[in-house]
Amino acid sequence: MDKILNRAEGKLLADKIAKEADVKLHECYQCGKCTAGCPMANSFDLMPRQIVHYMHLGDMDEVLRSKTIWLCASCHTCVERCPHDIDIPTLIEKSRMEAQKRGICAVRDVRLFNDIFTETIRYTGKSQEVILEGAYNVTSGHLMQDMANVPQMLKKGIVRPEFNSVQDKESIKKIMNKAEEGGAAL
Ligand code: SF4
Ligand code: SF4
Repeated sequence: MDKILNRAEGKLLADKIAKEADVKLHECYQCGKCTAGCPMANSFDLMPRQIVHYMHLGDMDEVLRSKTIWLCASCHTCVERCPHDIDIPTLIEKSRMEAQKRGICAVRDVRLFNDIFTETIRYTGKSQEVILEGAYNVTSGHLMQDMANVPQMLKKGIVRPEFNSVQDKESIKKIMNKAEEGGAAL
C-alpha cells in the first residue's frame, strides 16, 4: 500500500496535532491503563496506547488508516485513567479530521451515518431519528438494521414518526457552515 505521508511528514503532522491537543507524546510510557479501560477496545484495530505510540514515532499512516479513529466514542475514560492526562480522544478527533481531509475512511458506515446526521441537523435544526435511521439503512444496504426495535421505540415515545424542526433553521445552518469553515469535521 502506498504511503500517504513519509516519516518526516508524519512526524510534522503528529507534532502539530499533539500541540493542538496540548499533549506531550514523549510522556506516554506505554503503561496500557488507557487501553485496559477503553469500552471500545474490542472493536479497535489500534489500541489507544498504540495511537499515542505511532504518533510519537511519526507513523501517521497507521493512525490515519485505522478504524479506531472512526470508532472512538469520545468517552474520555482513557484520559481519566492516564497517569499523564494524555488526551487521546482529542488526538483521535484531530486525526479523524486529517483523514477526512485526505478522503481516507476505514469505516465507511460511520462516515455515512455522520453525513446523514449532520445534514438533517443542517436543514431541520434537530435530529430526526426516523429519517436518520431510514436514510442510513437504505444507503448503507443494512436494510433491516434495528428495525426489530422500532415498534417498542414508537410505543414508548423514544422516537416519533412525525417530522418536526426548529423555528429558526437558518441560524442552525449558519452555525454549522461556520463550524465547517473553521475546520470542524461535520
Ligand atoms: S495510560 Fe497514558 S501513559 Fe499509559 S499508555 Fe495510555 S496514554 Fe500512555
Ligand atoms: S475516548 Fe475513545 S479511546 Fe478513549 S476510552 Fe473512550 S472510546 Fe476508548
